[in-house]
Amino acid sequence: MASGGARALANLAHGLRDLFFAPACAACGGAVGPDEFLCPVCQEQVESPPEPSCRVCGLPGHPWHCPDCAAKSSGL
Ligand SMILES: [Zn+2]
Ligand SMILES: [Zn+2]
Repeated sequence: MASGGARALANLAHGLRDLFFAPACAACGGAVGPDEFLCPVCQEQVESPPEPSCRVCGLPGHPWHCPDCAAKSSGL
């Protein structure tokens, strides 16, 4: 009876470990391989970043500041 309880406890611990350490992409939480940090989709984005974007608002196509943010920063 005691051993049965210990076994159940071990199963629970195992389940918790799987829950916390289940392989998941660090960026999107998608499925990854056991030793992978990012899923293939996010890995590709890291390796080949998307087009340059405004550093303030993230608007793509503007490597530093988009016209909007440039106007704001120069107005200050
Ligand atoms: Zn991902
Ligand atoms: Zn901007």
